[in-house]
Amino acid sequence: MTTGSRDVVIIGGGIVGCLSAYLLGRRGFKVTILEADSVGSHASGFAFGGLDPLTGVGLPEPLLEFSLWCYGRHRSLARELHEVTGINVGFELRDRLHLAFDANEAQTAKKDVAWMGSVGGFRVEWVDNRQARELEPQVSPECLGALYERSPGALEPYRFVLAATRAAERNGAKIVQRRATGLLTDGTRCTGVTLENGRIDAGVVVLAMGPWTQQASEWCGVDIPVKPLKGQILRLRSREKPLVLAVNYKGSYVATKPDGIIWAGTTEEEVGFNEGITAAARDSIMEDFLKMVPGMREAELVQQTACLRPLSADGLPIVDKVTGWDNLYVATGAGRKGILWSTGMAHVLLDLIADGESEVSGAEHLRLDRFEPTD
Ligand SMILES: Cc1cc2nc3c(=O)[nH]c(=O)nc-3n(C[C@H](O)[C@H](O)[C@H](O)COP(=O)(O)OP(=O)(O)OC[C@H]3O[C@@H](n4cnc5c(N)ncnc54)[C@H](O)[C@@H]3O)c2cc1C
Repeated sequence: MTTGSRDVVIIGGGIVGCLSAYLLGRRGFKVTILEADSVGSHASGFAFGGLDPLTGVGLPEPLLEFSLWCYGRHRSLARELHEVTGINVGFELRDRLHLAFDANEAQTAKKDVAWMGSVGGFRVEWVDNRQARELEPQVSPECLGALYERSPGALEPYRFVLAATRAAERNGAKIVQRRATGLLTDGTRCTGVTLENGRIDAGVVVLAMGPWTQQASEWCGVDIPVKPLKGQILRLRSREKPLVLAVNYKGSYVATKPDGIIWAGTTEEEVGFNEGITAAARDSIMEDFLKMVPGMREAELVQQTACLRPLSADGLPIVDKVTGWDNLYVATGAGRKGILWSTGMAHVLLDLIADGESEVSGAEHLRLDRFEPTD
């Protein structure tokens, strides 16, 4: 059997791989997803699911345009996936309070209000403690106030991966539960992928292995600077009223999910590929949780999860053809924002494979060659 340039093998069944498979299949590519465990069984299935295009690394510069593009696409994609698969990914608008407890934090928040307030489609303002507690009665009486952000979104990540996978399958994608171990090559062409037990031919290969994409650097001889950054989340049950808003403080957050369970996170741990939960993380998340919403002291721990974000060397995503290769692509490195940015990453990948260039806003900031030394 000859393998044509429309036969795409995607290594990795996280959200980036599965959504890319859906879009490629829709454009007539024949896609196989190789997944070592099961789809969505790592970060993509256990993320919090916040879709906030205005906060975090790379914002506002250089990624604001890209981030807004991604957010806009989530709104239409949620409907599209529902129509195609019947799965509701749970997209909703979820307003947020970013709390400030001291004068420095308040000053930073007020500065952020200045630029965030000018972004179309979002209403951002500073509210004092009384106003914050009117908006969300559980918020700590100790905070000075908060940045109040209206219209960021949220969804349920596991359902999102399942919907993307099912939509990809509807377009003919095959999911193969096997671990990739290397690449088959002929000069600068990648002709397939070696598996733990066997091989698969390919016309195009995509490395979408989350933090494990690091391992493919050896396969292709090009450094893909991505590493794991562990994050843990607590799921809690409380007799108190559900939180109306999402509440953030520094890198931590808490929100009541649609099923009534409270999710509180998170940690940033550089501990290699260890995905185990720890008591230290539980204690530090509880400390931030109670700082934000002290009235929920009686909340009972239901579940603790841990998984690994794919963090690139500069914290921004990487989507590109791999330097020196004709038909090998990479899509990874989205760190704390991979659910939000997955829409843009998958569209950029589709454009690069189908047309050689992408018109997604800000796609030029995702290039792999930004890490190459300049003389
Ligand atoms: C605690 C936590 C909370 C988060 N909250 C949010 C949030 O609120 N909003 C947001 O936007 N983002 C959030 N994120 C980030 C987001 O989850 C990730 O950036 C995103 O899921 C990464 O997706 P991915 O497809 O690149 O990687 P992954 O989900 O890691 O998927 C990669 C897949 O590749 C497979 N694989 C690896 N090696 C091989 C191999 N050799 N062969 C076959 N398969 C292989 C793995 O098994 C895995 O399933 C959060 C992350 C964490 C950890």
